[in-house]
Amino acid sequence: MPSPAIESLLILQDRDAKRLGLEALLKAVPRDVALVEGKIAAEKASIETAKQELKELEVKKKALENEIGSAEAKLAKYRTQQSMVKKNDEYQALGHEIETTEKAIGEFEGQELEVMYLIDEAKKKFAAAEAVLKGNISGHEGRIKTLREREVNVTAELKVAQAEVATTRGPVGERNLRVYDRIAVRQMPAVVPLVSLDKCGGCHLKVSGDVISAARGKGTDPLAALPTCDQCGRIVYWE
Ligand SMILES: [Zn+2]
Repeated sequence: MPSPAIESLLILQDRDAKRLGLEALLKAVPRDVALVEGKIAAEKASIETAKQELKELEVKKKALENEIGSAEAKLAKYRTQQSMVKKNDEYQALGHEIETTEKAIGEFEGQELEVMYLIDEAKKKFAAAEAVLKGNISGHEGRIKTLREREVNVTAELKVAQAEVATTRGPVGERNLRVYDRIAVRQMPAVVPLVSLDKCGGCHLKVSGDVISAARGKGTDPLAALPTCDQCGRIVYWE
């Protein structure tokens, strides 16, 4: 059975651990929110990229349509000229131009078909991706809402925990508080039982016989300093 001094320290340590846990949770919230916001931005960028790809294909299609239009105009002009020339070599030269232009139009039309196919594919891909990405975004937004709610709840819990820590410090006494605070700021738990008879429950190294005796409270002054581990400095007690 630990001494009343240790009892009060253990209660304080318990409340302190709770406070630290809540503080850690609270500290993690802004970082978690930033992570989720980063994910939302990435999803939005993906939608933008898909949209941009589609737009570029539309521009390409338009350019091909223009090429075909001007080639067809040229073709009509050559045909008119051909119907009016008298010389055979001029007639043949125009015939050659007509043939070349017709071939070019055929090629443009082939390319246009290809682009139209790509546009269809891109539209399908975009619609599917957009649905998925929007679903992801609303999931992320829900996560942020949860994080914000947690922030509010944890802040309230932390206030209670801080008040409990303040209350439980009272019975510990000035001198023991100083020892506890010095250790607790470095390592928690600051108060540990001896384990396997002679080992510190914090660092698991052997403590000296004097520390064991002091922890067992045998023949020691009840006003003596708290026994601490020779290795890590934690307050040790006999369970
Ligand atoms: Zn130790």
